[in-house]
Amino acid sequence: MGAPNSIVILTGAGISAESGIDTFRDTNGIWSKVDYRDVATPEGFARNPGKVHAFYNERRRGLLRVRPNAAHEALGRLEAAFGGSFLLVTQNIDDLHESAGSRRLLHMHGEVNSALCEACGKRSRWSGDMSINSQCPHCGTVGRMRVDVVWFGEMPYHMDRIEAAIAACDLFVSIGTSGNVYPAAGFVEQARLAGAHTVELNLEPSEGYSSFNEAIYGRATEIVPEFVRQLLAAEVDAAFERISPLP
Ligand code: NAD
Repeated sequence: MGAPNSIVILTGAGISAESGIDTFRDTNGIWSKVDYRDVATPEGFARNPGKVHAFYNERRRGLLRVRPNAAHEALGRLEAAFGGSFLLVTQNIDDLHESAGSRRLLHMHGEVNSALCEACGKRSRWSGDMSINSQCPHCGTVGRMRVDVVWFGEMPYHMDRIEAAIAACDLFVSIGTSGNVYPAAGFVEQARLAGAHTVELNLEPSEGYSSFNEAIYGRATEIVPEFVRQLLAAEVDAAFERISPLP
């Protein structure tokens, strides 16, 4: 394809794997050790909030030990250098995209560094541990704080903005996601309907691999920087051609 005008990128746990954060569904992934119904559903939280707080406290503490990798950094460079419309949508609850300079970024499954008060509905940045005794900094209520992530059975965030960007994009790139979790797994079909070129960058073919026009398989730290390099080179070529069209 030629240089795109509007890019939407979707990332999943695979982009953070080489930073040392476990994925969910791979062998040794988080769901091989913990039952998601206990720690990632509203019912699990109602049954045992202490267990859920402990699970996310561990994830939040883990962020202090990790750094963005070459794939996060390449996406930060792409956003800074790309002249067209750009949106990065992540399913990840970590903050590695922000640390690598991404700004036009939506966390569709929330953030582990954010807390939501079930009493007043307000959000707060949250960097330490959370417990059943935590107090809301806004309304002062004790015992109604939860991690601000989207659990199974809950509606992902920012869907209107994401779907509008997908409907208007001409390049859709999916990175490091297994294609198991909807609605994110359906974005590729929406992008195709909108006429976009669709690319999968993953360690192995995802569930929805046959929906993509193009696929590159390998480790994110290797294939994402190379993909970004080629995309930016194509944009420079297109700009030269606009200035001095080939005869
Ligand atoms: P997933 O665990 O289902 O799939 C991860 C995918 O990444 C797999 O297809 C795997 O082949 C691929 N992968 C693994 N290592 C890779 C590497 N080095 N380079 C490239 N690809 C690699 O994760 P998902 O699809 O993101 O599942 C969605 C859910 O997982 C979301 O709800 C998200 O919130 C959650 N999640 C987030 C984090 C995080 O914040 N870092 C971690 C685990 C899970």
